[in-house]
Amino acid sequence: MSEPRIPFNRPYMTGNEFGYIGEANAGFVLAGDGPFTKRCNRWIEEQTGAAKALLTHSCTAALEMMALLLNLEPGDEVIMPSFTFVSTANAFVLRGAVPVFVDIRPDTLNIDETLIEAAITPRTKAIMAVHYAGVGCEMDTIQAIAERHGLYVLEDAAQGIMARYKGRPLGSIGHLGALSFHETKNVISGEGGALLVNDPAFAQRAEIIREKGTDRSRFFRGEVDKYTWQEVGSSFLPGEIVAAFLWAQLEQAASITAERLSCWGRYHLLLEDLERENLLRRPIIPEECEHNAHMYFVLLSDDVDRQAALTYLKRENISSVFHYVPLHSSPAGRRYGRVHGTMNNTDHLSERLVRLPLFIGLTEVEQQRVKEALSKAVHAV
Ligand SMILES: *Cc1c(COP(=O)(O)O)cnc(C)c1O
Repeated sequence: MSEPRIPFNRPYMTGNEFGYIGEANAGFVLAGDGPFTKRCNRWIEEQTGAAKALLTHSCTAALEMMALLLNLEPGDEVIMPSFTFVSTANAFVLRGAVPVFVDIRPDTLNIDETLIEAAITPRTKAIMAVHYAGVGCEMDTIQAIAERHGLYVLEDAAQGIMARYKGRPLGSIGHLGALSFHETKNVISGEGGALLVNDPAFAQRAEIIREKGTDRSRFFRGEVDKYTWQEVGSSFLPGEIVAAFLWAQLEQAASITAERLSCWGRYHLLLEDLERENLLRRPIIPEECEHNAHMYFVLLSDDVDRQAALTYLKRENISSVFHYVPLHSSPAGRRYGRVHGTMNNTDHLSERLVRLPLFIGLTEVEQQRVKEALSKAVHAV
């Protein structure tokens, strides 16, 4: 008899989601920018200090808005890691811009800030910081480089809600930031996201781009007496039902983070032995970063066969997964992007990485089971 399955992720519900959706229904406001959207926007502004937060239907949408806000033109370049989700690059490729991939740091797997400056060309417009696993990039250095060269700093903080770098919430540090509320993230609405406008110079255009290129938001505030087409935009806002769901989650973002952190901390203790035996490496959190336990991953030693380890875990009914296929080695990444320098860390570490189940409700007994199965898997070399 095999043990019950441990899934990789189980979306957490606070229990208040359907009550708020009922309220939205009862109020007959179902399109976007109703009372729940406004509540969510205000919460995000207060939590992050962003000049303006705008809910979007996904983090991908928020990244696409960034590309529109920067008026990127074909051939413009955005420096970013290759070890990231597709949307980080795709949003800019949609405008004809070129993602320029640089290697990652071996500790955090975030963009290696020491490699950015050499990748800058006259076409570079922005540096994109992706905060992997909710652990902040070295933002002070990135911002200093951007200032020296007159570039924008963008943050893909899809995994970064409630996490901080030197006390500053991820997503609120660059000119623009993006959060995700996808089902797989810490705080969820199924699909969902937000654009953080930290440079107020972008605030008005961000509203216009999000509302199909019109000044409809200003019209509803009574600032203009009719709304018209102002510039290129799209429909980037979620409906009220999604916002109502999200509100239930945002209200409990602090306790969600605390519960995930305790689960993360238990793995960290359980896996200390295996790290001491050099069979794997645990995550490294730099001192200046407060993370949010978005993910618990291990980097298997070179002697361990990752595929065999994953297969073993699967046989033990434990759902464990690797992560990104680096964008520079994907068909579209090769077609639309460019690599600057070597990708040694990206290539090597992405091949060693295994993410363990982590969700609210994962028990200590289950974590112990994951540890024992992983231990057997990595000792079987
Ligand atoms: C999840 C994720 C995204 C995409 O978020 P969606 O809300 O699904 O569009 C983008 N970037 C990173 C780093 C992510 O982890």
